[in-house]
Amino acid sequence: MHVKAMTLVLATHNPGKLAELRSLFASLPVEVVPIREVVPSYGPPVEDGATFEENALKKARAAAEATQLVAIADDSGLEVDALGGRPGVRSARFAREGATDAENNAMLLSALEEVEDASRTARFRCVIALVDPFSEGLKPVVVEGRCDGVIARSARGESGFGYDPLFLVEGGARTFAELEEDEKNTMSHRGQAARALLPHVESMLEARLAEARRILASRGAG
Ligand code: IMP
Repeated sequence: MHVKAMTLVLATHNPGKLAELRSLFASLPVEVVPIREVVPSYGPPVEDGATFEENALKKARAAAEATQLVAIADDSGLEVDALGGRPGVRSARFAREGATDAENNAMLLSALEEVEDASRTARFRCVIALVDPFSEGLKPVVVEGRCDGVIARSARGESGFGYDPLFLVEGGARTFAELEEDEKNTMSHRGQAARALLPHVESMLEARLAEARRILASRGAG
């Protein structure tokens, strides 16, 4: 059995995000658990922040407080230049509150109907926040990933979720929905943000191990 030196609680119930983070941290002695496994009755806070960072921090702080464990939360969305950065933090509810992916995609296509190809530039952004409940004075860790692309004129591809069928990457060759999962993770905003988090988690682990060694050494001396 592998010894896990630290538990990271993930403030989401999304199985895709859990699997992605678990595989990313697989080489470290870290266990990633979804928050409902720790607090089954957990209800997430309202995502009413004006930025991805505000929402990610709000979710990570609430999860750290509820569990007293180091917590990670992400917030992501699509920014379309011709729409002044919309839908942004409202990506999940662009068409309406509780909208389906198909409704949001239809809304995006109609909002861009008059926009010529060269001006259909957009990017996915993802912010991940990490909050340690035991380091009150310390700032939370906030990392970001982004992926540039162009909004297509019609949907293509079957994989992924959300706006994937309309998001053209690689100079317009393929949409996110036409990529294998691994390929998407390599270039996606979420994959990039998660990889940016890795060195922060490594240094937290090192600090904890150093502290444990210090305590053990002082006991031995006493
Ligand atoms: P959340 O961060 O899971 O709340 O995602 C917000 C919304 O942004 C999602 O519901 C999608 O509409 C959109 N979104 C975020 N990441 C992606 C992605 O990788 N592909 C497609 N849509 C995404």
